[in-house]
Amino acid sequence: MVNEDDEVVLQGVVNGKIPSYSLETKLRDCKRAVYIRRLALERITGKSVDGLPMEGFDYDSILGQCCEMPIGYVQIPVGVAGPLLLDGVEFYVPMATTEGCLVASTNRGCKAIYVSGGATSVLLKDGMTRAPVVRFGTAKRAADLKFFLEEPLNFETLASVFNKSSRFGRLQTIRCAIAGKNLYIRFTCSTGDAMGMNMVSKGVQNVLDYLQPKFPDMDIIGISGNYCSDKKPAAVNWIEGRGKSIVCEAVIKEQVVKQVLKTTVDSLVELNVLKNLTGSAMAGALGGFNAHASNIVSALFLATGQDPAQNIESSHCITMMEAVNNGQDLHVSVTMPSIEVGTVGGGTQLGSQSACLNLLGVKGASKESAGANARQLAKVVAAAVLAGEVSLMSAIAAGQLVKSHMKYNRSNKDV
Ligand code: ADP
Repeated sequence: MVNEDDEVVLQGVVNGKIPSYSLETKLRDCKRAVYIRRLALERITGKSVDGLPMEGFDYDSILGQCCEMPIGYVQIPVGVAGPLLLDGVEFYVPMATTEGCLVASTNRGCKAIYVSGGATSVLLKDGMTRAPVVRFGTAKRAADLKFFLEEPLNFETLASVFNKSSRFGRLQTIRCAIAGKNLYIRFTCSTGDAMGMNMVSKGVQNVLDYLQPKFPDMDIIGISGNYCSDKKPAAVNWIEGRGKSIVCEAVIKEQVVKQVLKTTVDSLVELNVLKNLTGSAMAGALGGFNAHASNIVSALFLATGQDPAQNIESSHCITMMEAVNNGQDLHVSVTMPSIEVGTVGGGTQLGSQSACLNLLGVKGASKESAGANARQLAKVVAAAVLAGEVSLMSAIAAGQLVKSHMKYNRSNKDV
């Protein structure tokens, strides 16, 4: 039964006198706001949301930060794969997914890597980007600004303007692209342990404010001009990188390929060339030279409070496989140029997500060196992708083997 006080508010929301979005402010009680919003929704639509849980969630923690007009939360099971032996350290990888087999398969890949001595990773680059679009009266003027921004002598001044809004955001590069009278200015900066979109945007705004009086004919069309490029497939991220660029490798021993992965080194190398390289080229892939990087990236992103929409560029990955040690063992690597992760900000501080970050030992801001936790998380993402690639590719290679055995054993009458 709805009590009298709640009923009055509920009526107000149903008849449109109280905007649903104002409930948290009006009631000063986030949980009660959720309760009334749900009831109002059920009355308005005539549909029940009974299966969507409401209890057991801290609605104060998302206010003004993660989600507006909450009515409950979706449950996603979290599995664990591991130990994942990476750079000599064991990690247990939390994966939020509803895809059966994904955790089991990644776990098998972790095992193959573990018994072969582990994986090694290198961070190649670490910088978040934002690219505003500005317009001039002529292409010549757009080019004037391009040359001004790319002039090395101007960098120090531009960096000090950019850097003033954050302790962590530090300008690294400015790269410009021109389309006629329009200029796209891609700023890259370090962002400590934050994924960094807010940080980079604030720095960019500082620079635009500084440039406006110097280039009064500059018309700022948008702080984001899509040359960043955020949450869209784009060659610029694949080529230049965005967030963390990581390469991660392992040598899987011949015995392990046979016993754990149930296939052969030759089958894996051949499949990788024909599927991940040639097949993806035939499909016109952009950064999709892999078997299923986005499966692992998405599951880890959901578990650790990353922005799931950034799975698009964060899953860019080329998987390489080669026979080494006289053709006996398998060298496998994943190269991922745009893994966008943070351990502070966004959804990372919510209870469940921060527990998963804690399991990985990368919760919150790094005490040793700003950015170390986010960089470590990106390496774990790449290494987990490596495990996922090894395992799925083996399953497919083994499937082919089964098929070809069927075909070539036809003459064998007892089949
Ligand atoms: P984002 O830029 O990823 O959208 P925020 O806007 O939430 O994330 O920025 C991160 C916030 O956390 C900033 O206010 C920043 O000052 C603070 N912060 C505290 N410690 C760190 C750290 N080690 N690295 C980055 N940011 C940090």
